[in-house]
Amino acid sequence: MTAPTLRAVTIVGGSLAGVRTAEALRREGFDGTIRIVSAERELPFDRPPLSKQVLSGAWEPERARLRGAEELDAEWLFGRSATALDPATHTVTLDGGHRLDADAVVIATGASPRRLPASVAPPDLAGVHVLRTMDDCLALQADLQGGPRVAVIGAGFIGSEVAATAKGLGADVVVVEALPVPLERALGPEMGPLAAALHREHGVEVRLGVAVAGLEGDGRVQRVRMADGSAVEADVVVVGVGVAPVTAWLDGSGLELRDGVVCDARCRAAPGVVAAGDVARWYHEGIGDHLRVEHWTNASEQGHAAAMALLRGDDAPPYTPVPYFWSDQHGTKIQFVGHSLPGDEVAVVEGSVADGRFVAAYGRSGRLVGALLWNRAARVPRFLGLLSAGAPFPPPEA
Ligand code: FAD
Repeated sequence: MTAPTLRAVTIVGGSLAGVRTAEALRREGFDGTIRIVSAERELPFDRPPLSKQVLSGAWEPERARLRGAEELDAEWLFGRSATALDPATHTVTLDGGHRLDADAVVIATGASPRRLPASVAPPDLAGVHVLRTMDDCLALQADLQGGPRVAVIGAGFIGSEVAATAKGLGADVVVVEALPVPLERALGPEMGPLAAALHREHGVEVRLGVAVAGLEGDGRVQRVRMADGSAVEADVVVVGVGVAPVTAWLDGSGLELRDGVVCDARCRAAPGVVAAGDVARWYHEGIGDHLRVEHWTNASEQGHAAAMALLRGDDAPPYTPVPYFWSDQHGTKIQFVGHSLPGDEVAVVEGSVADGRFVAAYGRSGRLVGALLWNRAARVPRFLGLLSAGAPFPPPEA
């Protein structure tokens, strides 16, 4: 049942987390006003296809529209940015000074790509890309035509997917990564090297453990100069050095901001203020720590949890998902369930690395904490189940 005081909700950020929160509010019976403030000019696109199907040209852009957004019973304010929030009155100030009053506010402003400092990457150099929006995707796609030399800076998920897609389009691709192991934070030191091996098997050069000193070129980028003095000649550079939560508009609001909006176990940042998606750092009761997750499934599920917190308050269940993400690279599906930390034990429990089809389990203090599934999509439900049930490590055989 809708809380009697909740008649109007302002959602800031009209992408996955914002849309899923609005959908959940309606599904749970909220019949008041929902306003969605979106810095984008139109209904949202889903982001995963931007480094895969749309970038490769397999899908037309329209096919990547976020499902559910068009049908929402909500007032959209397109092309408008929130510049401030007063959590006590639930007032959101927009660019131009206009103020929106509501009984509750949803913070769903996501994350934006980190950029290289101007001393490393001159801001006016053509041919240098980041990838977050459909516009970014189409601009990069145009630059990938004709088999260019592409340097991808950063071997995280987005950099790795762009490298794989660009290779598939006939580009000559080099990935440079400052860390000695790619994807180490997500997969750990044992499994991270497999990501580099996958690239190399498909003809992508990978240079690890060397930092970028600067991008060089006359008007347009021509090379990436490395800290060891070497250079990677490149017509196109993609900067994939991670994302930062979009919280600058909340400076001075009094909300706790610590690499994201700090929330309690029910995604609440203050009374009547919730956060969801890439921007939210909430307390995960099962893991016993604050967590911020930059993956699709979390943005979707957390929207539901945030809506429940607005509608039911303390009676809403705490948000304790088993984290999940997937990535597609060179025709390989990489999935991870759970939450790994440096020092976790890792053991291949199904299949074999040599065959390129396996499950690696991650354990801590005798308990299963995560599983990496490499071309083993059908096994995701089993490992989700084991993690939810608090299975021991190593997990029981199927
Ligand atoms: P966002 O999608 O960042 O949306 C936030 C919205 O808020 C944006 O529209 C922004 O313009 C708007 N906004 C920001 N500030 C303001 C403001 N002040 N006022 C108004 N509006 C504002 N995840 C996976 O699990 N698997 C994948 O394979 C995968 N692939 C990806 C590929 C790409 C290229 C990218 C970019 C992401 C990928 N992700 C993937 C991650 C996933 O897409 C994100 O986790 C998800 O989009 C987060 O949704 P969100 O709504 O929290 O944030």
